Amino acid sequence: MAKKPQYGLLIDYEYCTGCYACRVACCQEYGHEAGSSGMQVIEQVQPLPKGKAYLCFLPFPTELCVLCAPRTKKGLQPACVQHCMANVIQWGPLEELSKQLGKKPRMVLWSPR
Ligand code: SF4
Ligand code: SF4
Repeated sequence: MAKKPQYGLLIDYEYCTGCYACRVACCQEYGHEAGSSGMQVIEQVQPLPKGKAYLCFLPFPTELCVLCAPRTKKGLQPACVQHCMANVIQWGPLEELSKQLGKKPRMVLWSPR
């Protein structure tokens, strides 16, 4: 019997605007308590030479992420993917998503296990 493909999220955080729509969408979908979500967004400021700085937002799935199984079973995209206006989150088989790694910097591939 063919092995069932493992699914995950590919996040291109270079273009994340820090809007938190992914986090809110997950909370709305699953009714998480205030402060918790299947997706958190970390803000990081990297100091650069000459007093400059690079502001970076890093969205990362937490232990509460169920990869939106109830939605994807119905043929829908995960809530965070659907509501990300910057279109920086992709859901799919890890094997397919991993092919995009290395094509550009600042991407992360995540899977629940
Ligand atoms: S895939 Fe679904 S459960 Fe996971 S973070 Fe996105 S919205 Fe939340
Ligand atoms: S919705 Fe998209 S752009 Fe907004 S914080 Fe989440 S990943 Fe970043």
